[in-house]
Amino acid sequence: MINWGKIKAVFFDMDGVLYDSMKNHESTWIESFKQYNIDLPAFEAYLNEGRTGNATIDYVFRKYLNRPATRQEQEAVYTYKTQLINQAPKAEIMPKMPVLLSFLRSKGIATYVVTGSRQPALIEKLSRDFDIEANQIISGADVKKGKPDPEPYLMALEKSGFQKEECLVVENAPLGIEAAKAAGLYTIGVNTGVLDDSILQDAGTDELFDDTASLATQWMEALS
Ligand code: CA
Repeated sequence: MINWGKIKAVFFDMDGVLYDSMKNHESTWIESFKQYNIDLPAFEAYLNEGRTGNATIDYVFRKYLNRPATRQEQEAVYTYKTQLINQAPKAEIMPKMPVLLSFLRSKGIATYVVTGSRQPALIEKLSRDFDIEANQIISGADVKKGKPDPEPYLMALEKSGFQKEECLVVENAPLGIEAAKAAGLYTIGVNTGVLDDSILQDAGTDELFDDTASLATQWMEALS
C-alpha cells in the first residue's frame, strides 16, 4: 500500500478517469473507420485507449487494412472523430473526482492531467470542471510518441519539479498504465471500462480500484 502522505503531485489520465467518456470514444472510433470499410470491434477502443489519435488510426490501418495510414488519412479520420465527439452526448464527470482534485489541492498537492487527446475544447473543459489550468495539462498535442511510451508522464514529472517517489498516476487503460510504469511512477488503476482486471494487472498497475468513488473515499480518509 502506498504512503499517501508523501505524495506531492498527482498525474490524472482524463478519459475514463475524470470523465465517463469511453462509451463516446468507442462509438465514434467505430463510426470514423466505417468510411474505410473497417468494422472496428468495440474492445479495440479500450485496448488502444491512451494512444494519440494518429497512433490509434495508424494501428487500426495496419491491423485491418495491412498498411499504414497516410498523414492525410490520419487527419481526416481524427477530424471526423472530433466532429462526432462534439455531437455526442456530453460525458458525465466521474463520481467524486472534482471533490478529490480540490481536496488534494487543499492539501498542497499539485494536480496535472496527462491525456492522449488533443480536442480543441480540452483546456476550457478541464478548467470549468476541475479547475485545471492550461499549464497543468499534457495533451496529445504536446507529445511526439504518446502512451504507451513513457514520454507524456516524463513530461508531467519534469513540469511538476518533484521526484518520481513524490508523484503518482491514476489511469484506467492498459497502455496508460504501461506508460506510467515505464516512466518509473507508482500507478493506481481504476477499472472503469469493459476490460478484465487481469489486463490492467498485467499492464503493471500497482493498485487497482473498481471505481473512482472508492478511490476518492479511501484517499481522502487517508489524508484527513
Ligand atoms: Ca483513459
